[in-house]
Amino acid sequence: MSGRKLSGWRGVLAWLALASVSVALQAHPVDSDLVTGRPALHLDIHTSRLELTPYVSVYHDAGGREDLAAVREKLASGGFSPLPDNKTAFGFQPGAFWFHARLVNANLREPRWLLVQKYALSDNIEVHTLHADGHVDTHTGGDALPFEARSIRYRLPNFWINVPPGPPVDLLVRISSQSSMQVPLWLYTPGAFAEVSRDAQFGIGLYYGILLALFVYNLVLWLRLRDPSYFWYLLHISAFGLVLFTLNGLGFEYLWPKSPWLADKAVPLSICLAQVGMQQFARYFLELRQRWRLGDLVGLAMIAFFVAWGLASVWLPYRIATPVASAAVFVSIAWIAIESIVVTARGYKPARIFLLAWGLFLAGTGMFAALAFGVLPKTFLTEYGVQIGSATEMLLLSIALSYRYSALRQENERIIRAGREELAQEVEQRTSELRLALDQLGQAHARLRESSQRDGLTGLHTRAHFMERFQQLMVEAYRAEQPLSVLMIDLDHFKDINDQHGHLVGDECLRFSAHLLGQILRRYNAVVARFGGEEFVVGLPGKDGAQALQVAEELRRSLDESACDVAGIQIRLTASIGVHELQVDGGSQVANALQQADEALYRAKADGRNCVRWGGGLPTHAT
Ligand code: GH3
Ligand code: MG
Ligand code: MG
Repeated sequence: MSGRKLSGWRGVLAWLALASVSVALQAHPVDSDLVTGRPALHLDIHTSRLELTPYVSVYHDAGGREDLAAVREKLASGGFSPLPDNKTAFGFQPGAFWFHARLVNANLREPRWLLVQKYALSDNIEVHTLHADGHVDTHTGGDALPFEARSIRYRLPNFWINVPPGPPVDLLVRISSQSSMQVPLWLYTPGAFAEVSRDAQFGIGLYYGILLALFVYNLVLWLRLRDPSYFWYLLHISAFGLVLFTLNGLGFEYLWPKSPWLADKAVPLSICLAQVGMQQFARYFLELRQRWRLGDLVGLAMIAFFVAWGLASVWLPYRIATPVASAAVFVSIAWIAIESIVVTARGYKPARIFLLAWGLFLAGTGMFAALAFGVLPKTFLTEYGVQIGSATEMLLLSIALSYRYSALRQENERIIRAGREELAQEVEQRTSELRLALDQLGQAHARLRESSQRDGLTGLHTRAHFMERFQQLMVEAYRAEQPLSVLMIDLDHFKDINDQHGHLVGDECLRFSAHLLGQILRRYNAVVARFGGEEFVVGLPGKDGAQALQVAEELRRSLDESACDVAGIQIRLTASIGVHELQVDGGSQVANALQQADEALYRAKADGRNCVRWGGGLPTHAT
């Protein structure tokens, strides 16, 4: 906080305080008190509750050793001075503070008043009432004594004092405390106190009711969802509730009434615990590890500090443990604010509600802490700022959590949906790739098969493939009761062509002859193959011997009538052909049929070549 800003705030608040004082002064006509320069307080029929501050003067016994007699002398000799700026908070101070007010009771019906110190943590309080007849009543209180020592079972230290109507009574209050020195002293008639404590208790009940509801609600959510940020929220809310429970005296009243030691330690311990919860909650909620590494590391360092300091505060005196913890709270909550600003700026939407919640809490806690250090005076806002700010904050954080949860769930669903679509696309793509590969494989396989069945030079079937196909032809002919013939073709004097024109030209002539034969035979649904060298074999389905002889003759003539043109050289080719018709009743063997055709071929050669000869028995349908 800058000094300028502070003085501005202080100006406004001081003005408000002065305004209220002047109203109070008008309400109660005063006598001047010669000793302290403070007005005496007149309690009249209209007064039932009153803040003592405007009437109080103070003396600081820094050593804390002076007794009542010595202090009474100080009072008589003008050693007391008015509360500076009517401020009731002095920060953390050594020794003892003495406060004085002169009371004059004009209200005959109310001789008994309740003095309440509206700050729960003062260790030792001594209340002396000095009566006109010289006798002195003394009460002791504060949280260094067990809770039972109180006049009324109430979270704030309180004392019954007798102020008999008539002569003035001097009230001297001595307070020494390790905690911050705050002295908002109030006087109540018994009836007024009953009313005011009822209102305060209602407010506190409302506050803890909100906290409890949020706690249970988020506990259930945490048990269901197991999101760690819910757990840290729960720690934060309970530890923070404990801090306030301790600060407003309820902890001492309900949790550890017999243990002034614990009353002492509970403040720094619960502060540290609450900060650990807050920092952890911020880390998880804001997803700092992913979103802001540096912020996360600083957060972790603060957590380490608060854990260490919390442990140390068990042994450290309150005077050291609490101020350091309280000061660190400023740093801690400011850092969380920075974290949430950075993460919001980086576009994380749930952080916006977090930031708003934190701003409210920051304002409330800041005011309360400033009150503890005596920087701001005690007003409704500074006193209840923490409660109002924190209740709103926790409510908003709970909303932020649910917002974050739904954002996470939507994101999850989106990822799953996208993943599913991507998977489907991938599967489809893989399937089509696979289909393509299978197709290609099938084609390659067919090509391979085909090439294994084809003769490399002529492109006709190989001999092996012919054997297979011819076997099929025989089966089909048998089934269909159709004739089947076979031709053996051998080019004449082919050796001479090779010798004369060379082997390459011979190859060309082989290709030419194969092509010519193939073209003619296609019309007859024949199976043609290169049987070896310059020899061809033909299966003629549906043709009997006579028809086969005609086909053979057609082949021979075509070859005889055309010449193979190789680089301008016309080469005449002739062939001798042997014909045989099979017996399709199953009596014929392939080898035997080929043998018959071959013998016919042999005869054609013997008969002078370039002719067709019949082999085997008489053709069945030759007539
Ligand atoms: P004919 O059949 O009329 O009795 O006489 P021919 O000279 O054709 O008979 P032969 O069986 O003695 O000779 C066949 C020749 O065919 C021998 C070989 O050089 C030739 N030949 C066989 N295969 C090929 C081939 O793939 N390319 C070439 N250029 N010549 C071949
Ligand atoms: Mg030959
Ligand atoms: Mg030959």
